[in-house]
Amino acid sequence: MEIYSEMYKRRCIKRLQEWKAPLSDWECVDMYDVAEASNALCTCDLCDCPGVRFVHVMRHAEYFEDVHVGCICAGIMDGDILAAKDREREMKNRAKRKQNYLKKEWRVKKNGNYVLKYKNEWLTIVPSKWGNAGFGVVWNGHGMWRYKGKSIGDFLTAVYAAFDLVDPLIGESS
Ligand SMILES: [Zn+2]
Repeated sequence: MEIYSEMYKRRCIKRLQEWKAPLSDWECVDMYDVAEASNALCTCDLCDCPGVRFVHVMRHAEYFEDVHVGCICAGIMDGDILAAKDREREMKNRAKRKQNYLKKEWRVKKNGNYVLKYKNEWLTIVPSKWGNAGFGVVWNGHGMWRYKGKSIGDFLTAVYAAFDLVDPLIGESS
């Protein structure tokens, strides 16, 4: 757990100086929850804290790569600790919503589609009727046949894709 203090902040700034990286005005371009992919937590690039679950991906036009950090370091880099904490809280709440969502039972309709009522809207998972083309997700007039750049090959992937459709991640446009 990263704890904010002046000493901690000085240490982070010193690390940025060692990298010859900009000291401020970084932008958070993405966030992800490492718990979705594995049980291991991630280590913050900037302060080496090993307990990061929600990663803030920080980018600066004058630095050659993205830096993956925890909440407090993100706040130091973009100069707004409160905004970083807000982003973190939103990620945590979304992770909880996702856990609840994944426990829900989908109903199979006569036509072979799966349906689930979520946030008062019907989500539909449609198995392809054309051979092996996988699954599609339909919600509120939006359709989705690809997820993370790939066709949706199985039902579980379709369930995850459907969640991203109804409850998109911050900064995610597709
Ligand atoms: Zn850190």
